[in-house]
Amino acid sequence: MSKPTDSLAAFYAHALAIEREAAERYAELADAMDEHHNDTVAALFRKLGTLEAEHAASLEKQADSVGAPRLAPWEFDWQGPESPEAAPHDEMHYRMTPYQGLEVALANEQRAVAFFEEVARHAADPRVRALAAEFAAEEQEHVGYVMEALSRELQPDADWALDLDPPNPPA
Ligand code: ZN
Repeated sequence: MSKPTDSLAAFYAHALAIEREAAERYAELADAMDEHHNDTVAALFRKLGTLEAEHAASLEKQADSVGAPRLAPWEFDWQGPESPEAAPHDEMHYRMTPYQGLEVALANEQRAVAFFEEVARHAADPRVRALAAEFAAEEQEHVGYVMEALSRELQPDADWALDLDPPNPPA
């Protein structure tokens, strides 16, 4: 099992997986916001998804240039069951308000910052430490975008999950 702190190639492999999953999850979050007709938050999630996808594309080139392995998801060394920047699936509630969507996005971005900061502190290779610090700073920027958007959204009602009109009522 390779750890992101092991080598430049291992770092690239992990970072690539993080950014790819983040891009996919932002596409899902943006779709969820469309359900609420919240164009502002949907647009923010699409923008963040594009940033993560661009990151992934450039990482892919760099990873190939150092011969980084393409690891299967189960080979990655994550703290949790999913990569640091991916929203846990059980949080993808169809009743999720923009506020809750932003909270999920914020948690994801903060986990990404923590992940890259950890690697920046503990990697033996100074190139990995420098790259990880760069990524941590970029993810910190994403945290800023999400926090700004959160401050514009109202707190949801406490009973947001109380579903009075389910889309697929049991027969
Ligand atoms: Zn991010």
